[in-house]
Amino acid sequence: MLLMNDKAVRVHSLHAPWLKEYEVQLDVLRLDEVHPVVSGNKWYKLHFYLQEAIAQNFDTIATFGGAYSNHIAAAAYVCKAAGLQSIGIIRGEEPAIYSHTLQQAKAYGMQLHFVSREKYKQKEALQYLYPTAYWINEGGSGEKGVAGAALILQQVPHVEKYTHVTCAVGTGTTLAGIISSALPHHIIIGISVLKGDFSLEAEIKNLLPSSANHQRFSIAHDYHFGGYAKYNAALLEYMNKVWKVHQLPTDFVYTAKALYGTEMMVRQKIIPQNSRVLMVHTGGLQGNLSLPAGTLTF
Ligand SMILES: *Cc1c(COP(=O)(O)O)cnc(C)c1O
Repeated sequence: MLLMNDKAVRVHSLHAPWLKEYEVQLDVLRLDEVHPVVSGNKWYKLHFYLQEAIAQNFDTIATFGGAYSNHIAAAAYVCKAAGLQSIGIIRGEEPAIYSHTLQQAKAYGMQLHFVSREKYKQKEALQYLYPTAYWINEGGSGEKGVAGAALILQQVPHVEKYTHVTCAVGTGTTLAGIISSALPHHIIIGISVLKGDFSLEAEIKNLLPSSANHQRFSIAHDYHFGGYAKYNAALLEYMNKVWKVHQLPTDFVYTAKALYGTEMMVRQKIIPQNSRVLMVHTGGLQGNLSLPAGTLTF
């Protein structure tokens, strides 16, 4: 019931000289377009948590996140849409000026509870504060998040024609959902936005449902641009170029790095000639609002 506007997800085929040169087809699954407010993978990851909370008659949802978390913004919005109260446990002291994400979350009625970074490390212990709430992990990670993310590829017409699927990776929950719903011939490549987090592969394997018979995936660790939410002039320039050439908006935390990584892997022939690649655009464009005004041309 909560899943989007019944609007078909668009597959956006990119055309560029380098794709011609390397003879690769690159399509982008525009999850950023599924909803005007809650773009992308967070909506899918929340789906089965919300469904369970409603089925079990909870009236309040509580979850965790940072001041720039797409998950917090998405959770606040879907709770409001579903008529549920929401509580966000936010990492760090209450700021004098709220980030755009926090302003949005507050506007959707989320009650914000700030905790020190120290306390946040043991955040699960904070669940006693709201004993009657239905708790969702940070980022919607966990089994139900994976099951929700497994709905993503189901939306793709003729998904069998693709040889590769690429996607940005934070916790890996979304990638685990994609892996678990992929066809046996699909080669799945996650682009990590974290610096040197080599435990991701094992964590993703742990997230895969035991029924998943598809273990063929890899993580590219070379496209984090310095680490989580780090960026440089080259990345911003790349984003502006991608907008100009393809009218494709990307965010600097996740999707710009995923697209850049995908392009580099084509250029390095890690993704070989004649491949048909689907990049899942996981949304998250609200994150760009934390960049200085005028940085981006879109
Ligand atoms: C949260 C997020 C991700 C990472 O998803 P995981 O399931 O944690 O790997 C990727 N892209 C965007 C835009 C996100 O907001």
